[in-house]
Amino acid sequence: MTTPELRIAADNAAKMAASTQVSAMKIRGMTVSYGEKPALFSVDADFASGAMTAIIGPNGAGKSTLLKAALGIVPRLSGEVSVFDRPLSVSRDRIAYVPQRASVDWDFPTRVFDVVLMGLYRQLGLLGRVKARHRQTALECLDRVGMADFADRQIGQLSGGQQQRVFLARSLAQGADLYLLDEPFAGVDAATEAAIIAVLKELKNQGKSVVAVHHDLATVTRYFDRVLLLNVNKVAEGPVASAFTSETISQTYGGRLASAQIDQLGLLVVP
Ligand code: ADP
Ligand code: MG
Repeated sequence: MTTPELRIAADNAAKMAASTQVSAMKIRGMTVSYGEKPALFSVDADFASGAMTAIIGPNGAGKSTLLKAALGIVPRLSGEVSVFDRPLSVSRDRIAYVPQRASVDWDFPTRVFDVVLMGLYRQLGLLGRVKARHRQTALECLDRVGMADFADRQIGQLSGGQQQRVFLARSLAQGADLYLLDEPFAGVDAATEAAIIAVLKELKNQGKSVVAVHHDLATVTRYFDRVLLLNVNKVAEGPVASAFTSETISQTYGGRLASAQIDQLGLLVVP
């Protein structure tokens, strides 16, 4: 049934959808400083709705700071943030944030199931009673990340990859529209990485927006649609095909990856 007319109509609809697309998150003029030297300087960024975007840059580039300042977890010296074209205060409930694993206190005695249940607190309210359907949702989210069998374990007893999956399950339980993940693949095994990327792609297919701080340049083209290259200042942003180039990468990493190349398949080659 794919006549040329139908195809043209579909193309136009896609273009229309693209042109009217709202930003999942828009940042303007964001400057953050912990001391004298700014960690972020006057950064503008547009995270497209319905896309998967990687935030890339060397250690200390301000990647985690960008997410935390956007969410108001660390104060900013200046800058505006809107989420789905509304102020953060209005859209806050539409965001799920998964912090860098290293920043979490894993000795805190909590069951895996309860960690995921915490993702439902907005629906529950502070004094809300956990009902059967909430337990069901939490279990389903654990199942989506392949962790249903670990529901009764203590979170501190899990491997890094398993902990990361549980945190992803908690963010799924929130039912957010925008997922902000800080290095979700750091210190996880290949099976976990594949499981996480499958869940993120599923979210994207449901029209959700995903932003992840990402440290592995070799997988950027395979995993993401868009990139933001950051090193205190914004270096570049846009679709991977146009913004993730050997020039922008060497600009972002300074001399370290100056001779990096992107080959014809869009894969990064570091000689
Ligand atoms: P990235 O996530 O890109 O590695 P960060 O956003 O964590 O970078 O850090 C950016 C800079 O800010 C670094 O120089 C870091 O040392 C500094 N920094 C981050 N958090 C704090 C903090 N809480 N107090 C002081 N300096 C900080
Ligand atoms: Mg970081």
